[in-house]
Amino acid sequence: MASQSKWVRVGKVSYGKGVFAASDLPSGLELGEVAGRVIDDAEYVSSYCIDLGGTLSLEPRAPFRYLNHSCEPNCQLVHQLTEFEDGSPPQPSIYVETLKPIPAGAELTIDYSWSADGAIPCLCGAASCRGWVVDPAELHLLAPKKPKRPRTATPRSTAAAGSQSSAVGTRSSRSSTSAAAAASKGATTSGSAATSTAARRRPR
Ligand SMILES: [Zn+2]
Repeated sequence: MASQSKWVRVGKVSYGKGVFAASDLPSGLELGEVAGRVIDDAEYVSSYCIDLGGTLSLEPRAPFRYLNHSCEPNCQLVHQLTEFEDGSPPQPSIYVETLKPIPAGAELTIDYSWSADGAIPCLCGAASCRGWVVDPAELHLLAPKKPKRPRTATPRSTAAAGSQSSAVGTRSSRSSTSAAAAASKGATTSGSAATSTAARRRPR
């Protein structure tokens, strides 16, 4: 499966690669599916893998392989589970969607929302940076080195109703910001249900 998007390009950042807007992008734009190899192994971890729920992980290909983290992301991952009437196993897939208008050339970022046990210090530079690459709900578990107390409760609470059920069964991390979009995607896709599970798993 090709893993391309006319909306983005891969470029260099100081610490490796990143994904950048190829043109001005409106808010709510679906940039493409995160294509890659699906691995059925509960213990699988890598630098880039995305938790698909259950024992499944996705090892993404470029360009979205190189989406970097920000505590104030301009994109989100939307999880979708397509179910089939013939009884075939449900097919999980992940899309990248813009959260705000993004000017051409700007780097695209998502909130990794890693679990606390895999968190690393965050250098994203956002005004509301949590200080850690971590799920906001698990930030308190990192209290000893917590640099400041950001006011990030609002986005989480607005998504809470939609993400409550899907949070069950998530092994490592989840993205609160994708709940609303995931719900709407599920509503518009025939025979499918959406979840808002993990953004990206932290390598061990
Ligand atoms: Zn940050």
